[in-house]
Amino acid sequence: MSSRTATVVGGGIGGLTAAAALARNGWQVRLHERLPAIRAIGAGIYLWDNGLFALDTIGALEAATAGAHVAPAVEMRARNGKAFLTVNVNTEDGPRCLTVLRDQLVTALVDAAEAAGVVLVTGSAATAVRPDGTVHFAAAEPERADLVVVADGVHSRLRDSVDLAYTRIRMPQGAARMMIPAPAGGPAAGDAVRHLEFFHGRRRLLFTPCTPEQVYLAFTCDADDPAVDGSFVDTGAWSRSFPGMAGVLEAADGVPVTRWDTFEYVRLSRWSRGRVAFLGDAAHAQPPYLGQGGGTAMTNAVALAAAVSRPGPTLPAALAAWERETRPGVERTQRTSYRMRLLNRVPDSVRNTLMGLTGRTSRYIDAHLAATRLRPGTNPPTTHPSRKETQ
Ligand SMILES: Cc1cc2nc3c(=O)[nH]c(=O)nc-3n(C[C@H](O)[C@H](O)[C@H](O)COP(=O)(O)OP(=O)(O)OC[C@H]3O[C@@H](n4cnc5c(N)ncnc54)[C@H](O)[C@@H]3O)c2cc1C
Repeated sequence: MSSRTATVVGGGIGGLTAAAALARNGWQVRLHERLPAIRAIGAGIYLWDNGLFALDTIGALEAATAGAHVAPAVEMRARNGKAFLTVNVNTEDGPRCLTVLRDQLVTALVDAAEAAGVVLVTGSAATAVRPDGTVHFAAAEPERADLVVVADGVHSRLRDSVDLAYTRIRMPQGAARMMIPAPAGGPAAGDAVRHLEFFHGRRRLLFTPCTPEQVYLAFTCDADDPAVDGSFVDTGAWSRSFPGMAGVLEAADGVPVTRWDTFEYVRLSRWSRGRVAFLGDAAHAQPPYLGQGGGTAMTNAVALAAAVSRPGPTLPAALAAWERETRPGVERTQRTSYRMRLLNRVPDSVRNTLMGLTGRTSRYIDAHLAATRLRPGTNPPTTHPSRKETQ
């Protein structure tokens, strides 16, 4: 068992977690990242119970969450600032939800992988994978391993090289992300420690304290919204949408966007072929309305490592068991998150009333929290968006 080899493609949250988890289970692991250095993409990140569980499993929890912001609640608010839905978090028996800088998370994952013995190869782009465990590279000889884990992100090219059927829905919404200094003119003290999401029309403004000094903002809107482009947010236009956040938006004026992403949903017909397994956004991308893409990638990575490291089953049997046990839970999270895009399409009065009522019946809260509690082995029923997005 200890001499088994694994090649991981992709040095993002999913690939690094998979590499660390496999190495901690005795595998000899090489991870290939196409960029010259492994780096975080984005700004801040929400880590819910499932992601925290995965980080703990690979020994990265403490480093990833040192100094994390621990909010009392996540709130959805109308443009006038009135909360229509509050999810209490970090209470004694409630869900945990920490927010950290992505840099800190990725550094902790890299450190955990290296401490477990993973060999990290940067500037190494894989061009194809084969079911027999061969990985081809743009500028190096092919490599062959007992297991190949592909976590090359939502724009995965390697999916096509193993001829897997998949659904990829590119949504008309996206988000611009940035970090700003904790603004003096921000929400009142009690509010400034909460995670706040303001809704108006087709715009959402997410206010996420990450450290005592830094706040992560996400501007979610239609991709053709003139007040956002890849590198620029028209904070004046957003202030008119959210007048109560004018102080925060003033602090954001001129701050460069770290990243714009259009939202996507990906569903593979199967998660593995032969010796090759897919996970993370390459296999199950989802819009970020639940803050669960990274949590799901990490949970699935530790589940994969556990499944293939159990004594007994052959690799194909272990991969089949991994998919059987983990996929229903992952897809439930995806479906919930995908459905939440509909909140962008309804008038404010309808959305706010509906969400307020839904929140009181606790069904929405349960669906949200089911995602955060996701663990390998949970098997809720499945149904899927069955057609291409036409919006
Ligand atoms: C606006 C927004 C907000 C989000 N907020 C949250 C949140 O709060 N919480 C949360 O859990 N999730 C969140 N997510 C989702 C989360 O960021 C992703 O689900 C997660 O980063 C996916 O990780 P991954 O490892 O699968 O892919 P990626 O992070 O995309 O990593 C893929 C890696 O593979 C490398 N690569 C690509 N091709 C090759 C190749 N051919 N050879 C070698 N390397 C290659 C890339 O360079 C990259 O480093 C958010 C997403 C968005 C868009």
